[in-house]
Order: sequence, then structure tokens, then C-alpha cells
Amino acid sequence: MKKATGTTGSARGNRKRTGDRSSNPARKASNGPRSLENIIEEITKEEPASRDAQPEIIVAVEEEEQAPVVLLVETILREALKRGASDIHIEPFEEALKIRFRIDGALQEIQSLPPKLTQAIVSRLKIMAELDICERRIPQDGCIRMRGKDAEEADFRISTLPSVHGEKIVMRVLGRTNLNRTLSDVGMPPKQLKLLRNAIARPDGIVLVTGPTGSGKTTTLYSCLTELSDPEKSLFTAEDPVEGTLPAITQVQVNSAVGLTFGSVLRALLRQDPDIILVGEIRDKETIDIAMKAALTGHLVLSTLHTNDTAATIQRILNMGVEPYLISSAVNLIVAQRLVRKICEDCKEPAMIDPHVLERFGLLAESLKDASVYKGKGCPACGGTGYSGRMPLYEVMPMSDTLKDAVLQGASTSEVRAISRREGMTTLREAGVYLVKNGVTTLEEVLAKTNEDSEMDDEPVLETGEGGHCSLQEAG
Ligand SMILES: [Zn+2]
Repeated sequence: MKKATGTTGSARGNRKRTGDRSSNPARKASNGPRSLENIIEEITKEEPASRDAQPEIIVAVEEEEQAPVVLLVETILREALKRGASDIHIEPFEEALKIRFRIDGALQEIQSLPPKLTQAIVSRLKIMAELDICERRIPQDGCIRMRGKDAEEADFRISTLPSVHGEKIVMRVLGRTNLNRTLSDVGMPPKQLKLLRNAIARPDGIVLVTGPTGSGKTTTLYSCLTELSDPEKSLFTAEDPVEGTLPAITQVQVNSAVGLTFGSVLRALLRQDPDIILVGEIRDKETIDIAMKAALTGHLVLSTLHTNDTAATIQRILNMGVEPYLISSAVNLIVAQRLVRKICEDCKEPAMIDPHVLERFGLLAESLKDASVYKGKGCPACGGTGYSGRMPLYEVMPMSDTLKDAVLQGASTSEVRAISRREGMTTLREAGVYLVKNGVTTLEEVLAKTNEDSEMDDEPVLETGEGGHCSLQEAG
């Protein structure tokens, strides 16, 4: 070995080069934040050193390759936080490893990486989440906790799914910011806000917030809790998952794997002298029964249900086997909500109303005939989508005496809806149309996010400027 020939000389040259690399570009730059493109370029530009080099050199090269992957994964996570993504999809396909972020409710491709990186990236994520990296045949789930030097901190709930080209990873971003809002910040119009505030000011009863996953229910409920937080009261939550920490509130993570269901958590915390209870989600008869009972015995209960709108929620609870008299005595108020994407301010332009879309709006279309509407053309700022940021739509239904009577007499969903509209309720779609007329969002977006049947059984009650959306605050 000492007697260097031509061949060993070149191996030594290799070693020197890798040595330089470890102290120079990749490592040195890790002091400051690096761009995703930068790191990807770093990883992909160099093929591993030729395998006929000396073994120790190969090991060194492999370690070298590890470091950029670590950095790449961290950069993907930080980039997701920076862009406000709610989910990260890492998808192995035959020709590429795709990285997509869900931003404002829609997926966007962020990067397409060479498939050879799949294994390294997946393994790195599994290590971070303390999953079994050798097990690639069955789905696993866990959590990555990121604690930055700066304010950036977040949890990523991770799940793996074995697919034909490798394990697909999806991470839900559980941000620590954004959740400590007050009700004044959620973007609810004053009239509806007042109804909600009255409902949660009561010492007992149930307030339900409904809508599909990702419609901002948690933000609304956390804001209620923040507003209700009081040293003289005891507040509890049962959640799956706990989406953010709230000061001075006892939060319990539901864990069905060990038998800690919503029902059993509720039963346990009712023995803990609660005043206000947030039940993350009512999914079954047991949970709704306990929640109803709690609401009728001097506790304020806040919860969510997966229903389309406020009126349909009554039928959903009845279908779960709850007696009508319990609903009419326990329920204070029901909120339905959606998030619609806002037109990107950087590429906003006047648009024509598509007659077909207008037709699908039915009676509400009348109020839009002469309105000037807008759309986003698509630009770099919005990733070509034409949308940037989101805005909530609310439908708020207080349980008036008339409604309670109607529920007792077995009123249908459309009867319930008709009564609440006569009492002044703005429907989700009406709230959406109001935003369209104000150039905040598009008809297509409102049509996609709200349900038609909410509108068809009564005349349109769209009184612009009165009551409804007086303030167009930011939300998201
Ligand atoms: Zn744009």
C-alpha cells in the first residue's frame, strides 16, 4: 500500500476529494437555511464513487450521501411549514419520487425526485418517527416532533403504506401556531359571532361545529375554548389527535389501541369536576349519549360532527339513536362551516360567469346576473392555481323555541332548514355567493365546497349588506 502505484494513487485522490467535501460545501452551508433545490442538487449531482475504490472510501462516501438526505428531509418539512401546507405526500412511483403538499385544501406538486432516493428518504422519516425501518410490508404510523431554534415548531403525524414502488408516506402537519386565536380572529361575521358567543356563554348544553375534514372546525372550537378559558372554570378536551396545545386546559389524547376511546375519556373526565368539555369528534352512540347527558347535567359541551349543514345535523343525531326530546333540550346551537380558497391578489382579473355554472346555482343565480366577478389567472405567487389563502363560510343555527318544537314533532331536515332560514339564518351557499360578489372567491369554488340541496326548498334570502358578511377578515 505504501508503494503507491498509479491505481492506488487515484484511490487516494478520491479519498482526498471526499474529505474536502465533508468539510466544505454540504456541511459548511448547514449553518444557515438552504433551499430545497440546493440540497436536491447536492444529492443527485454525484454518483457514488466507483466501487473498485478501497472499502473504507466507499463507507466514507455512503456517510457523505446520508448527510444530504437528512438535510433534504428536514428542508422538506420546513418548506411545508413555510408554505402553510396541511399535509405532505411522499409518493414513490416507477419513474419518480413525487413530493406534494396540500396547500389551501388542494395538492400541489413540489418536487419530482429520482426514484433511487426513495429508500433513503423513507428510512430517514421512519427513523425520525421512531418506526421500525426494517418493516416495509405493513402500514405503520407515528409522530415526528420538530423543535427548531427559532419559533418554528410543529408535529407531523406520519403514516406509511406499502405500495408497489415502495412505501408511500403521508404526514399531517400539526402546527403549533395558528390555533391560539380568539373568536374575533376566525373571520365570522358579527351577526353569527354574536349567536355563537351567546350559545357558549351558557353554563350547559351542546354546541356543535360541523363540516368535512379540513373545514376549520378545530380552529373555531379552539377559539371558543380560548375565549372561555377562565381561572374559575375547569376545561377539558378529548381529542384524536391533539392538534395544538392550549394554555390552562387539560387535553387528553384519545388512544383506541389501548381502549381509550372518546367514550371512556369522557366518562373519566366527568369524574374530574369539569365545567367545559371539548369532545374532538362524536362518532358513535356511546359518545353522543355521554355528551348529551353531560350537557343536561350542568356542563357546556363543544363538539364536531361530520354532516353537510346545520339542519342535516339534527337528523344525523336522531339516526345515532338519540331521542328528539334530548336534542331539543340539550342542543344550544349548530354551526356548519367550510373553507373556500381566495382568489390570488397577484393575478386577479375580471371574469365572465359561465352560464352552466350559473345554472347550477339555481335560484341564487338571480342575484349574480349583473355582478362583476373575478378569477385568478395563475401566477408564480399562487403556484399557478389562481388561489391564495382561504376564507371561512359559516352557517349558524341557534335552537330557537320554534325549532325545538319542530324537532319534538319530528320535523324533516328541509322543514328544520326552512324554519331556521325564516328566522334569519344565512346558508353556506349564500355566504359563498356574498364572497363571490365581493370578488373574494369564485363561483366554481363555492359550488365545489357547498351543497346544493341546502338552497332549493325555499326562496333565496340574500340580503347583501344586512346582517351577513359585514367584515371580510383573513382566516386560514
Ligand atoms: Zn396568482
